[in-house]
Amino acid sequence: FSSKLPKHNTSIFTVMSTMAYKYKALNMSQGYPNFETDQQLKDLVTKAMNEGYNQYAPLPGISPLREQIVEKIEQLHGKSYDKNTEVTVTDGATQALYLAITAFVKPGDEVIVLKPAYDSYEPAIELCGGKPVLIQMQGKEYKVDWQEVAAKINSKTRMLIINTPHNPSGNVFGKEDMQKLEQVLNGTDVILLSDEVYEHIVFDDAKHYSASAFSGLAERAVVCASFGKTFHNTGWKMGYCVAPSELMAEIQKVMEVNVFCVHHPTQRAFAEYLKQPAHYLNLGKFYQQKRDKFLSLLEGCRFNFSPSQGTYFQLLDFSEISSESDVEFAERLIKEHGLASIPVSAFNKENLDHRQLRFCFAKTDETLEKAAEILQKI
Ligand code: PMP
Ligand code: GLN
Repeated sequence: FSSKLPKHNTSIFTVMSTMAYKYKALNMSQGYPNFETDQQLKDLVTKAMNEGYNQYAPLPGISPLREQIVEKIEQLHGKSYDKNTEVTVTDGATQALYLAITAFVKPGDEVIVLKPAYDSYEPAIELCGGKPVLIQMQGKEYKVDWQEVAAKINSKTRMLIINTPHNPSGNVFGKEDMQKLEQVLNGTDVILLSDEVYEHIVFDDAKHYSASAFSGLAERAVVCASFGKTFHNTGWKMGYCVAPSELMAEIQKVMEVNVFCVHHPTQRAFAEYLKQPAHYLNLGKFYQQKRDKFLSLLEGCRFNFSPSQGTYFQLLDFSEISSESDVEFAERLIKEHGLASIPVSAFNKENLDHRQLRFCFAKTDETLEKAAEILQKI
C-alpha cells in the first residue's frame, strides 16, 4: 500500500520522551506538568461516576459545561456564543483542530501555517488532500510578516492557522497582530483556525487576545482550547472549540462519525470546576513564578534567552556553546548530561541556524533546580 503520510515520522515528543526514559534523564521535553491536578477536580470526576454519569454524553458536550464555556468567553473576551449551536467539547484541542481541518479542507485546498508550528497541523491537512503553505516567522523573535501572509492568500486558500500564546517560542500576539490579521482576512472567505490552548498562561504585561474578541475574526474563526493545559491534566484529553453556528454544524458532522462524544464524567467535573474563575485566572501568575525561578537559576549560564511571554515553554539558545545542530545538541544533552528538551527545528520550516532548544517549565521547583544545575555546568 502507499502511505497517506509518507513524510511523517514519529512525533518529536515521543522520540524525546522515550530517550529521556531510556537514559533516565530529567524530562523537560514533552509539554506536560510533573505535578498533580487538583484533588477537588479528581473528586468531582469520581463523584460523577458514582452518581451514574457513565453513558454517552450528548454529541456537543453536556449543557452545563457548554454553559460554563460560553460564560467564560463572554467574561474574558466580550463575545457571546450560543451554547446550543456554537460549542463542541472535544477530546483535547488536538481533536478540535483535527475536526476543523477535516470539516473544511478539501483536496487541493491551501492552508496557511505559520512556522514554527505545532506538529499536528500539517499531517491533518495532508490527510484531507490539502496543501500546507508554510510561512516562516522571522528572526529569533519569530515575528509574523502580515504582508507576506496577505500575499500568500489566493482563491485556493481555505484556512489559516494561528497559535497564540505560541508553542514553541512563547510569543504572544499583540492587539496589533490581531488587527492586522483582521485586515488581511477582510473580504476573503478564509476560515481562521485559532489554537489558543495556552490562553490562560501569559506573563508580565502580555495579554491574551482571542480571535473571538475581534468581530472580523470571530465571524470566521474556530477557536480551540484545552482543559489539559489549564488544569494540569493533559492525560484526560479534554478541550473544546467554539465557532459560528454554520461552521460548528459542519464540525459536528465530523464529530458524529469520529467519536460522537467525549468522556462524560469528566465533563460533569469541569462543569462544576469552571464555576470558580480563580481556577484558571491565576494560572498566569502560577507559571510566571515557575518561569522566573527557572530563569533566575540560569543567570550567568552560557545559554542566551529572552523570557517567554506565555505558554509553559522557554527557549534557550546554545549558539555560543556549540555549532552542533539542535537535534545533535539535544541528544547529547540527554545522553551525557541527563536532561531532555525539544529541538526547535522539529517545529520549523527549514533547518534554520537558530540553535534553540525548548524547555517545558511546568515542573516542580525541585526539577527546575536540578535542570538549572545541569545547564549551568554546560
Ligand atoms: N496545540 C498546541 C500548540 C499544543 O501545544 C498542544 C499540546 N501539546 C495542543 C494543541 C494539543 O492540546 P491537547 O493536549 O488538549 O490535545
Ligand atoms: N503539546 C505538547 C508539547 O508541545 C505535546 C503534545 C504531544 O505529545 N502530542 O510538548
